[in-house]
Amino acid sequence: NSVPTLTLNDGHTIPQLGFGVFKVEPTETTRIVTDALEVGYRHIDTAAVYGNEEGVGQALASSGIDRSELFVTTKLWNDKQGTQSALDAFDESLEKLGLDYVDLYLIHWPAPANDKFVESWKTLAEIRKSGRARSIGVSNFLVPHLERLLTETDVVPAVNQIELHPAYQQAEVTAFAREHGIHIEAWGPLGQGKYPLLEEGVVTAAAEAHGKTPAQVIIRWHLQTGNIVFPKSNRRERMAENFDVFDFELSHTEFATISALERGGRVSAHPNEVN
Ligand code: NAD
Repeated sequence: NSVPTLTLNDGHTIPQLGFGVFKVEPTETTRIVTDALEVGYRHIDTAAVYGNEEGVGQALASSGIDRSELFVTTKLWNDKQGTQSALDAFDESLEKLGLDYVDLYLIHWPAPANDKFVESWKTLAEIRKSGRARSIGVSNFLVPHLERLLTETDVVPAVNQIELHPAYQQAEVTAFAREHGIHIEAWGPLGQGKYPLLEEGVVTAAAEAHGKTPAQVIIRWHLQTGNIVFPKSNRRERMAENFDVFDFELSHTEFATISALERGGRVSAHPNEVN
């Protein structure tokens, strides 16, 4: 009943289930991440723009957990894309996290209007070469953005972290990613509370059938799809609930009926519009 690991296209492994800290207040972050580590999470997803890397770092340091057991992701914010600015931003993130390497460093959004994501990607490749990011990837990239990385550089992203849940499955970009060995990380895996996924009849029926909660059913759907997920909660009992998903499996029919919830239900901004 432990968290499975997936092998990325660079040979490194990643725990398939982690804990995300978007919208976790900086002042609360150390407590919340400490709770998550005590519950059993070893994979933490943060970003420079979340403003809480220091709190994450403090929780990691005081946990006493061996660095090799932890998997830490952070992300380059849009206004730092480029070469020197990205190198500086990366150094700042490492320092705030109190780490000498991160497991995964991502370009947070393509921000295509600025046209710097290819240059930034080359910078991330240099960072990876230095060993200070074990793996590198992207976030919120659509097919045309990925295509540019594949044609203009020789490094394939290890992951693409995108908004994805049963009502918004992003078939085009996930198929492209699969074809090129890029793992999908699903953000907003529960619909961020903005899409009423947990009330869908097929979800509540599966939850009842297994004696689990709707959130556990959705997380299970992601795991069985092959997605990497890191649902977020400030509440310890929900952290534990979201982690307790390895003692049941959705049947083929349950999985299919939940997959049929696709509605094109994007809850957040379009990647071309975030700069
Ligand atoms: P989420 O779908 O995980 O939703 C979180 C919300 O769901 C919580 O605030 C809580 O209200 C609710 N929730 C959590 N557990 C629950 C449970 N067991 N039962 C009922 N409700 C529950 O959305 P998220 O936090 O936005 O996404 C997860 C992580 O993805 C983030 O913390 C962050 O690390 C990452 N993320 C990345 C991007 C990006 O642009 N790359 C954007 C958003 C989020």
